[in-house]
Amino acid sequence: MKATPEALLQQVFGHAAFRGEQAAIVHHVAEGNDALVLMPTGGGKSLCYQLPALLRDGVAIVVSPLIALMQDQVDALRQLDVRAACLNSTLDADAARTVEQQLLAGELDLLYVAPERLLTPRFLSLLDRAPVALFAIDEAHCVSQWGHDFRPEYRELTILHERWPGVPRIALTATADPPTQREIAERLQLQDAQRFVNSFDRPNIRYTVVQKENARRQLLDFLQAHRGQAGIVYCLSRRKVEETAEFLAGHGIDALPYHAGMAADARASNQRRFLRDDGVVIVATIAFGMGIDKPDVRFVAHMDLPKSIEGYYQETGRAGRDGEPSEAWMCYGLGDLVLLRQMIEQSDSGPERKRLEHRKLDALVGYCESMRCRRQVLLANFGEDYPQSCGNCDNCLQPPEAWDATEAARKALSCVYRTGQRFGAAHLIDVLRGGESERIHQFGHDRLGVHGVGADLDARTWRGVFRQLVAHGLLDVDTEGYGGLRLAEASRAVLKGEQTVMLRRVAGKRERERSASGR
Ligand code: ADP
Ligand code: ZN
Repeated sequence: MKATPEALLQQVFGHAAFRGEQAAIVHHVAEGNDALVLMPTGGGKSLCYQLPALLRDGVAIVVSPLIALMQDQVDALRQLDVRAACLNSTLDADAARTVEQQLLAGELDLLYVAPERLLTPRFLSLLDRAPVALFAIDEAHCVSQWGHDFRPEYRELTILHERWPGVPRIALTATADPPTQREIAERLQLQDAQRFVNSFDRPNIRYTVVQKENARRQLLDFLQAHRGQAGIVYCLSRRKVEETAEFLAGHGIDALPYHAGMAADARASNQRRFLRDDGVVIVATIAFGMGIDKPDVRFVAHMDLPKSIEGYYQETGRAGRDGEPSEAWMCYGLGDLVLLRQMIEQSDSGPERKRLEHRKLDALVGYCESMRCRRQVLLANFGEDYPQSCGNCDNCLQPPEAWDATEAARKALSCVYRTGQRFGAAHLIDVLRGGESERIHQFGHDRLGVHGVGADLDARTWRGVFRQLVAHGLLDVDTEGYGGLRLAEASRAVLKGEQTVMLRRVAGKRERERSASGR
């Protein structure tokens, strides 16, 4: 007789109890049923197919798009004495043949395979002759054309269902807003599969968003409260990764860079140090993190705005997998918004795709600007209702103040108009504050009526005003040229005095320090 799921969980994996929906999923799949599993990163998806693989006769075929991750999983399973192997392009012909023989001889519990490999006629005919226990489709959102990881081969995975209708299938993903969930079910013909939707909440992660002033300084202040702890700092570009890592190292922080442009061995060695040593801070582009299973990552810091809430949530989800208090910290300014809008506009994507990317970016900006509990906003994005305030985000801990910025907004908008709708915020703020720079004189902006009308507010407050005017759609960014600001249609009502503008007050230095020093 086979062991029970609970017994195997302890004996093989060494875990005392199932988490969340794991138990229900394992039973359901082990009994031969289909499942669609939506679980946040770090939620424990792997067990949902690894245990049924051991409970059912035959081998579980795991489709995974990430070759690096495959090898890690196989290594980890072998350490637990589970008979696992993988087939992908990194194996030479001999090694691949050995794996194939093991497969046919029934000597494997789990076989990880890349989708393009799985779909070859050769492999499919091998499967005809092998005892298959189940199919697991990991990272199932790759089937969605609108997701950021679209893999055309995923669309063809319906062949599994058509060719082996009796074999149960389990599809898993961490990146699923409701439309993507529907698309996964449809594309993989899993409409009849039971859905297991775990809460995406990560209660031990504290969310904070600060206005970008001097980003590196702000990062350093934030890191002071996390001395000796492991963490990830995300930057948008490779160059910024290098510079930031160097800057931190120069300030006594054990920081290492990681990006796709580095030599493979340097990259691998930095990743190894991050995984093995204590208290390493890895500064990386989003190339870093897929399949990184380090439980005690204490913080994830974003120096630049990510592209979507899903991306942000997946990246911050790498913090605190061990359940201990952790932080997700983001430094965000108007420049980020301008840059990302330009990147979308200037990409080769078609108009529909661009619209979608703008929508996703706007949702993330909405998160950054929100005065509500951050957790509520994040979870709402995944279709989850979180009724209470979480008490563990900056907005809950230091409720932001709104101020009547109608007059300031009007000054800012007229400054945009009077200067010809082609300058960026830095120059506009200079004009408003009565600056005497060469540029101001060169354009004759010192002779405008708006010159100096905003001297009552400091530059930091003005930055907050301009950023929020863009975020709220009162100003547009010129995405073809240099990112100058233009009046949006909606600004008219404000200029005519028909609409008031309430904005979030930018936290003062003292408050920022307090929030940086954490709990
Ligand atoms: P995901 O694939 O959903 O991101 P993993 O399957 O990699 O998550 O699991 C994340 C971490 O949680 C791993 O370190 C794993 O060992 C651990 N884990 C999973 N299930 C349990 C459990 N029931 N009890 C304790 N730890 C668990
Ligand atoms: Zn909150």
